[in-house]
Amino acid sequence: MDNCIFCKIVARQISSKPIYEDEELIAFHDIRPAAAIHFLIVPKEHIPTLASCNEQHQALLGKMMLLAPKLAQEHGCGYQANGDAVGSGGFKTQFNIGPDGGQEVYHLHLHVLGGPRLRHG
Ligand code: 5GP
Ligand code: ZN
Repeated sequence: MDNCIFCKIVARQISSKPIYEDEELIAFHDIRPAAAIHFLIVPKEHIPTLASCNEQHQALLGKMMLLAPKLAQEHGCGYQANGDAVGSGGFKTQFNIGPDGGQEVYHLHLHVLGGPRLRHG
């Protein structure tokens, strides 16, 4: 897609700080981090938003969700499970959808935010 900032990142026309890449996904640090650790998991295919997804995207969305804890673990904000008790660490995942959802970039992406909490919410 012309003029899509994340398509340009996928095509390496705009630089980013990638932390993961495969044939379907790329993950890179958010340029304006809202937490100590803040990265985005982005499909290489241009899909405008979560609300544009259908059954064809089920596997891709599952892959994005499963990648989040793996990369969080690698970046020091994974959740350390402790049997049945509450463990330590952890992170937040977020899709922003549409104007009222605060979406700024209309190329599907999953936010992963972690590190010490600065505020609740
Ligand atoms: P949204 O509000 O659409 O869910 O989030 C878009 C995110 O993309 C924002 O957190 C913003 O900081 C990030 N972002 C926008 N442009 C760029 C860019 O050129 N590079 C990187 N790494 N992040 C960007
Ligand atoms: Zn795009």
